[in-house]
Amino acid sequence: MSPAPLTLYRPGLAVGRDAQVLRRAASPEFSGWLEHTRPAGGCSRPIRLTDTIAAVDRNTGRITGQLHTDELPDRTLYKACGNRRESVCPDCAWVYRGDAYQVVCRGLTGGKGVPDSVGRHPVVFATLTAPSFGPVHHRHVARHTCRNRQRCDCRPAPCRARSTAGTCPHGQPAACFARHDADDPRLGRPLCLDCYDHAHQVVWNYFSSELWRRTKQAADRHLAARCRRRGIPKVGIVTASGKVRWVPPVRVSHGKVAEMQRRGAVHFHVLLRLDGVDPDDPDALVPPPAGITVDDLEAALHAAARQITVTTPPHPDQPDGWLIAWGEQVDVRRINTASGELTDDKVAAYLAKYATKATEATGHSSTRLTPATIDDYADPEGDHTARLIDACWHLGRPTPTHTSSGAATADHRQDSLDTRPRPYAGLRRWAHMLGFGGHFLTKARRYSVTFALLRDTRATYRREEDDEPTDTITVGTLTYIGSGWLTEGDALLANTAARQRREIRHIGREELAHETWLTGAAA
Ligand SMILES: [Zn+2]
Ligand SMILES: [Zn+2]
Ligand SMILES: [Zn+2]
Ligand SMILES: [Zn+2]
Repeated sequence: MSPAPLTLYRPGLAVGRDAQVLRRAASPEFSGWLEHTRPAGGCSRPIRLTDTIAAVDRNTGRITGQLHTDELPDRTLYKACGNRRESVCPDCAWVYRGDAYQVVCRGLTGGKGVPDSVGRHPVVFATLTAPSFGPVHHRHVARHTCRNRQRCDCRPAPCRARSTAGTCPHGQPAACFARHDADDPRLGRPLCLDCYDHAHQVVWNYFSSELWRRTKQAADRHLAARCRRRGIPKVGIVTASGKVRWVPPVRVSHGKVAEMQRRGAVHFHVLLRLDGVDPDDPDALVPPPAGITVDDLEAALHAAARQITVTTPPHPDQPDGWLIAWGEQVDVRRINTASGELTDDKVAAYLAKYATKATEATGHSSTRLTPATIDDYADPEGDHTARLIDACWHLGRPTPTHTSSGAATADHRQDSLDTRPRPYAGLRRWAHMLGFGGHFLTKARRYSVTFALLRDTRATYRREEDDEPTDTITVGTLTYIGSGWLTEGDALLANTAARQRREIRHIGREELAHETWLTGAAA
């Protein structure tokens, strides 16, 4: 007789976890523990803290109570990790994505302190990409007929059809006639790894935020010039010292998300909104003057993207530096126009989605690399990702300092780039991001509400929900003791409770919108 099918159980772990769950749930402190872990309930890897916490009266500043974490369940305070990356912590990323959606949406339609009138400002949605660093397998559909672009099953054109096929100097075919499926792992991979310029790509990623910064400034200058030509006067703002400063009558506020493409090059999705300037209240959000329109915004951005390039500082491997410029296509679209398929909601959902991702599209995902871990990921003879990481590590190596060639430009930032002692050192720090060291979501100060405001609002709301007096603030000098739940059983219990609370909780209108969008509207 064959033995009982014990293999149906996941041995070890599952049994251990079940035992942990039972032990925890049977303990008399269980409900207290559940309540205690609630603020971090859904988190995958909460931060564990210890030490003294004090309750302080907001009005008098007097300490009204004190507590050591030793008196708490598990003698620990649990705090959600707050990671924005879905691959790291789905629950914290869910919260972050909701906030990102709010930040973007409020900047488009107003609300939470942003005037509703922003809904009438000209807005464009631009996608700025990196240039080619060598041919990669790609999928191009001339006209989509699919309903969901995420699961596109349209017939694509042949990848890289050429009449004179031939091979590259390394013997690799220079053409590819495959019609790649949307999930083909070859997509974004070079036709020849040895022909591909991995070094240029990681340097491009590394300097892309600077390229964007200068492009934005150039767009501002183009708009100011258009105002001048049309006789729209500058606006005089009285500064703190009582002097009048004359500024252009329009300014552009933006929200920007970085997306890592499959080939490992970053590209940017940017919302640009045209605002006016109120001389009496320079911080107010007011519509731009009538003589300047969305056409001007669009033209200014196109002109700036064509015009601006960055030459990076000299490197021993590239004494003249690398040229950093945008790819050929700069896609600029209007939103909320009569014909447009792009609406506020769609754009906000799109941006928020990318805000919770990093390098996942490339198939690579790791934390910061160190001399101890680099060899697990970097390989100059390895696959595409291994070569990109290797390029970061190699270019970021300690090198003798270079003095600027003296070819100073009018742009002082260029000079400061050149005179930093080790301008490429950061490539090692950002090797796990394939060179990109910028934030995945950034926005101009004036664009919208801040993440901090949303977090505060949420905390206040939670306190009110709990009937806790809001004139008490909690302060503490807490010490980090570790990350993660104590056992797998704890993780299961806390996460399940959090999920149930979310399902039960009354869903307000905004949450409803958020949920709708999460369940597919954003596809
Ligand atoms: Zn978390
Ligand atoms: Zn191909
Ligand atoms: Zn399609
Ligand atoms: Zn080759």
